[in-house]
Amino acid sequence: MSLRVFAPGRVNLIGDHIDYLGGDVLPMALPLGTEVTLTPADAFEFVSAQYPERWTGDDWPQPSGQWFDYVVGCIQLWPDSTPVRPCRIAVTGDLPRGSGLSSSASLEVAVLTALNAWLNAGLSPTEVALLGQRVEREWIGLNCGIMDQYASAWGAAGHALHVDCSGPRHVQVPLTLGDSGFWVVNSKAPRGLPGSLYNERVAETAEIASRLGIAGALARADVNAADALPPRLRQRFRHVVSEQRRVGQFVEAAAARDVLSMGALMNESHASLRDDYEVSGEDLDALQAALVACPGVLGARMTGGGFGGCVVALIRNDAAASVRDQVRSDYQTSRGRTPDFIGGTPSAGARVL
Ligand code: ADP
Ligand code: MG
Repeated sequence: MSLRVFAPGRVNLIGDHIDYLGGDVLPMALPLGTEVTLTPADAFEFVSAQYPERWTGDDWPQPSGQWFDYVVGCIQLWPDSTPVRPCRIAVTGDLPRGSGLSSSASLEVAVLTALNAWLNAGLSPTEVALLGQRVEREWIGLNCGIMDQYASAWGAAGHALHVDCSGPRHVQVPLTLGDSGFWVVNSKAPRGLPGSLYNERVAETAEIASRLGIAGALARADVNAADALPPRLRQRFRHVVSEQRRVGQFVEAAAARDVLSMGALMNESHASLRDDYEVSGEDLDALQAALVACPGVLGARMTGGGFGGCVVALIRNDAAASVRDQVRSDYQTSRGRTPDFIGGTPSAGARVL
């Protein structure tokens, strides 16, 4: 008998590069995601509709840049208390991969949720998310925070998640915005060396914490000593502190349905990621600028790890079609690629189908 599980990708509305510093973030799960079908079998077999490579056997390979590294990592880190028996895991998904919408986290959460249900392991969505994060960090080698897996595990229809990553814990934030909505715009820009640059930022913030003598969550630190930091680290720290503040302000604005303030905070967040944290890039900057130049766009920002990937925009519904046409043509002219517009409907989290 087979078990089918769907786990969504996510878009982060605001609060980037502070999840690994124990800060607040505001992701929402997307309608797009990854579906896994788990079938008990005589031998392990992992296949994906999106890749020709498959894995069979139980002589586990070390991670080598193959898609099934993620599945192997889930099984390697699965708790010994409920051993994984041989099974076939068939994967398919409709998220753009490598675009910052967390297809990798959704794959991890889908596989772990399937194992959890099959083996009656009793893991909570938070425990599933933490295990998925360990796969990414300990097996894949990306020192990511908890946001992506957490959003995939806990997503709620009609809501963003205000996640305190120092827990992690969250409260749901209703997103009833009336005449406006979120759009995810895929720049289709290649990400270059995202993993190493991402890890470099993580290392820089560790240096800030050590220089300032901060043991706990850096994003929550109450310090005025940043002047003592060298300029580059001061810049990084300014992003961390200001982004943490903006998340709180954005949540308040969302509660008041104040879309103008929400949009302004998104623009400020983009500038901070571009100028202070330096994780944006020419493509994302061009796309963000093309969006905010259009009437009806309330705000836009790069989202996720950066160095390519997607921009999230808050757009008045009656302007959405004309914004899409204008931005596609502007960005095609300036960067030679046609961006995709994906509807940002806040959606439910991982579930057995
Ligand atoms: P992102 O998480 O932003 O989409 P990553 O580089 O972290 O980008 O993860 C993308 C990787 O996740 C893919 O290269 C692949 O290894 C794996 N992956 C995602 N979706 C699938 C899928 N449907 N089938 C197989 N592997 C997948
Ligand atoms: Mg990923």
